[in-house]
Amino acid sequence: MCAENYLDPLQNSAYEAVSGLEVHVQLNTSTKMFCRCENRFGAEPNTNVCPVCLGWPGALPYANRQASEQPLRAVLACGCEVGEFTKFDRKNYYYPDLPKGYQISQYDQPLGLGGRVEFFLEGERAGVRLTRIHLEEDAGKNTHVGGRPVSFVDLNRAGTPLLEIVTEPDISSAAQAGAFLRNLRLIMLYLGVSDCNMEEGSLRCDVNISIRPKGAEHLETRSEIKNLNSFNFIEKALNYEIARQIELKERGEEVVQETRLYDPDRDETRSMRGKEAEHDYRYFPEPDLTPVTFAPGQLEEIRSELPELPIDRLQRYTGELELEEYPADLLVRDHEAAVFFDSCVKIYPQARSVANWILNSLKEEANSRKVGISSLGLEPGRFVDLVKAVDDGIVSSQKARDVLEPMLETDKSVAEIISELGLEQISDDSMLREQVEKVLAEHPGPVEDVRAGKKNSVNFLVGQVMKETRGKANPGKVAGIIGEILSA
Ligand code: ZN
Ligand code: MN
Repeated sequence: MCAENYLDPLQNSAYEAVSGLEVHVQLNTSTKMFCRCENRFGAEPNTNVCPVCLGWPGALPYANRQASEQPLRAVLACGCEVGEFTKFDRKNYYYPDLPKGYQISQYDQPLGLGGRVEFFLEGERAGVRLTRIHLEEDAGKNTHVGGRPVSFVDLNRAGTPLLEIVTEPDISSAAQAGAFLRNLRLIMLYLGVSDCNMEEGSLRCDVNISIRPKGAEHLETRSEIKNLNSFNFIEKALNYEIARQIELKERGEEVVQETRLYDPDRDETRSMRGKEAEHDYRYFPEPDLTPVTFAPGQLEEIRSELPELPIDRLQRYTGELELEEYPADLLVRDHEAAVFFDSCVKIYPQARSVANWILNSLKEEANSRKVGISSLGLEPGRFVDLVKAVDDGIVSSQKARDVLEPMLETDKSVAEIISELGLEQISDDSMLREQVEKVLAEHPGPVEDVRAGKKNSVNFLVGQVMKETRGKANPGKVAGIIGEILSA
C-alpha cells in the first residue's frame, strides 16, 4: 500500500468512510458486579475470585449497588434516556476466560438509550450520537506464553463491571474517532467512574468500518476491528482499514463481514474470524437477577449532582474567563488542574495569570514528582498569594519560580519565603535609577542606538540592569526609567 494513501486515505478519494464505535469502560467500583471480590488491577493471578465469579455450579450472583449508581451517572452525562425498568440477559458463548459459558449483559432493555456526546474537532463543535449504553460483566484474561504449548487464564477480571457505549455510525474519519474518544474518556474521568487507563485495559474500543461512494445514503458491508487500547492504534487501524477497503473496491472485490485484529508491530489489520450474528449468542433473560427499576426522583438527584462536562468547562474558560483556547484546552484535559484552577480563580479572578502559573510552574513541579496537581497538597489560597506577588511586582516572575518549591515543602507563607530568600523585587525608584544610570554609563554604544530609535537596544539595557541586580529589578519600571532618561 502506498504511503501517501496511508496518511489520509480519504483525501481526494471517491469514497467516504462510515464508522461506529463500541467502547468498553471498566468501572472503578470497589467490588465486582455480582459478588464481593475486590475489583482491582494488578493482583496476583486468580486471587480475587470466588464461586460466583468462577462460575461454580449453584453459585448465585447478587447485584452490587455501586455498580448501578456509577453507570447511571455516565448514562445521564451522555444524554441518554434512562429506562425506568432495565434487566440483565445472558449472552452465551464459549471461551476459556468465561467460566460460566455466558456473559451477564443487557440485551433489549439496556440502562441507557440514545444520547449524544459533543466535542471540539479542529475548533468546531461536533457531535456523535449514541445508540445505547449498557452494563455488563467483564471476562477473565488469557495469557499466551511464547514458545510453550499452553495458555494461562487469570480470572481476577471476570465479573468486574463494564459499561458498553455504542455509537451510531456517525464517524467519518480517524481524526473524528480520536477526538470523540478522547472526549469520552475525559467525561468518564470527570465523573470519576473509571480510571480509563488504556494500557491496563480500563478503556478498550471496537471499531466498525465500511466505505461507500461519496454522498451515498446506504451502508455497505463493514468489518470490525477488536480491542484497540490506544488512541494512536485506533487512528492508525482506522486509516489502514479504510485504505484496505478502498483498494479492494478499486480492484472490483467485495469487503467481507468479519472481525479483524490490529497488529501494531506491523501496523496492519488481519482477519481473525467471521463476524458472529446476534442470534449466535442465544440471548435470554438472566433468571438469577431481578430487574432494576429507578424512581424518577433518584435519577433527578443523580443528574443534579453531575459535574460540569469538559466541553462546557472549555466554553466557560474561553468565554466568561477570557482564556486563550490553548491554555483553556490544556486545563480541561487535566481534570485535577482544572479543579485547582477553578478554586484559585474564585479567590483571585486574574484567570490568565493563574492559568499561566498552573500550566507552567505548578505542572512542572507535579510532573517532576510524578503526581497530579491535587497530590501536591497545595492550598489554592497560598498558590494565589504567589501569583498575586508576581502581578503586584513584589517578586519577578523569574524569581517566583524559586518560591514555589519551598511553598510545597514547608507551611511558610509566600511573603515569608520571599523575604527569607531575599527575593523581593526592587521597585524603589531611586534605587532603580541609580542602577540604570550606572548601566547607561557603561554602555555608550547601545545608548546611542536607543537615541537613534532602535527598540531592541532598550531590551539589552534592561537586561543589563537585571543582571546587575541579580534578577531582582522590576523590568517594567527599569524600561520606563531608561526611556525617561534617554528621551530627556
Ligand atoms: Zn467473586
Ligand atoms: Mn461488550
